[in-house]
Amino acid sequence: MGQALRIGVMGGTFDPIHYGHLVTAEEARVQFHLDRVIFVPSGHPPHKEERKSLDPEFRYLMVVIATASNPFFTVSRMEIDRPGPSYAIDTVRELKRELGDGVELFFITGADAILEILTWKEPEKILEECIFIAATRPGYDLRRLEENLPESEKIRHRTDPRVLIMEIPALAISSTDIRRRVKEGRPIRYLVPEGVAEFIEKHGFYR
Ligand code: NAP
Repeated sequence: MGQALRIGVMGGTFDPIHYGHLVTAEEARVQFHLDRVIFVPSGHPPHKEERKSLDPEFRYLMVVIATASNPFFTVSRMEIDRPGPSYAIDTVRELKRELGDGVELFFITGADAILEILTWKEPEKILEECIFIAATRPGYDLRRLEENLPESEKIRHRTDPRVLIMEIPALAISSTDIRRRVKEGRPIRYLVPEGVAEFIEKHGFYR
């Protein structure tokens, strides 16, 4: 029998996608020997009532534009097409159904988002289904992540962690800053791929 497929699941709102996300996915792919990374733009983030995100279809298209040239990256419409809030557990289970049980899934996203997923209901269940890769900006207080892990995971974390941490300097770039820059008429060139910048400009997003 061959080795199990190792698949990265890059979850995010991607409003918009930027080079920090792309560097994160590529770094995770190489560091954790992933066969490929599937970007999964969230349809309806469960925790985002305070700010309305850009239409999921446009966020999805920007992810397609940004990832098109990387042969190891694909994009899934799974969360966009699924009605209701986008829960990570549903996505991981649906991917396992599609790819087969032998697959090993690595859910890659921001450390704060991972904390949110793990402090929601039944964190043990999702920790059984996948390994998490928490991407952090430099200077992130890692104790915050470790102290907030579920009790069962705290013990295992010392010997056989299911939450791995990856510091990514390029995550100094943030979607919030990009939206603010567009609003203020400041440049976003070199922060997002050229095609994404042109798409934002063409549709007048974030103004
Ligand atoms: P968020 O709360 O907007 O983001 C938290 C931080 O993580 C931000 O600094 C964000 O930076 C960063 N981040 C987000 N996605 C990232 C990625 N793929 N790689 C590196 N950094 C990333 O998080 P979100 O984007 O809405 O959600 C992230 C993922 O977690 C999504 O797949 C979402 O569906 C899932 N989630 C699930 C649950 C649940 O199942 N209950 C709860 C919360 C989140 P930027 O703003 O620059 O991206």
